[in-house]
Amino acid sequence: MTDDTTHHPPAGSAASRRQVLCAGLAVAGGLAAAGARAQEKIAPEMVQYQRTPKDGNKCATCVNFEPPDTCKIVAGKVIPEGWCIAYAPMETSNKG
Ligand code: SF4
Repeated sequence: MTDDTTHHPPAGSAASRRQVLCAGLAVAGGLAAAGARAQEKIAPEMVQYQRTPKDGNKCATCVNFEPPDTCKIVAGKVIPEGWCIAYAPMETSNKG
């Protein structure tokens, strides 16, 4: 009696791996998508908005700031000296 059953492990699914990649991209795009919705801004408390600068960063140097006192993504009034976790520094155009 010979019983030499060989076990072949099922091949890894390339499709599921691709799904994982897509999910990662969706998460990365989530914040940007939230910012694109102009009429539905984020509540200041959701982004830990504060009325003082943080590590030298402030609304005045943020790409989302709209002078004199509004923000593209945060609801209500913001001040140039304020800051929140959605802070994104402006591109400085004076690169040598
Ligand atoms: S720091 Fe926050 S509240 Fe201020 S302009 Fe940037 S995104 Fe808006």
